[in-house]
Amino acid sequence: MKGCCCETDNAAYYQGETKSGEKWTPAFIEYVDKEKCTGCGMCVKVCSRGVYELQELNGRKISVVVNAGNCVGDGSCHMVCKPKAMVCRPKREK
Ligand code: SF4
Ligand code: SF4
Repeated sequence: MKGCCCETDNAAYYQGETKSGEKWTPAFIEYVDKEKCTGCGMCVKVCSRGVYELQELNGRKISVVVNAGNCVGDGSCHMVCKPKAMVCRPKREK
């Protein structure tokens, strides 16, 4: 994913596997950049894991990560966020 926060270096990262056995690298949520977030709520809608919640901050709505541990790293939220406000990272292999 060139040019996005999920870009990886040459380190070894945890990889998932599709049903047919293809490898892929999940990118897990770190945080939402509250300056970029427009409060559209799309991430709340698409995340099936309940990771986000819309909250009021200084009179405007923003998305807040309330359940980071539930993230499976599928990237659905990233796809729907126009300002690319969330920062996601792959997990390094131990
Ligand atoms: S999709 Fe992006 S802009 Fe919309 S609420 Fe979520 S983080 Fe904010
Ligand atoms: S990567 Fe998937 S599970 Fe994680 S926060 Fe985004 S939509 Fe939810």
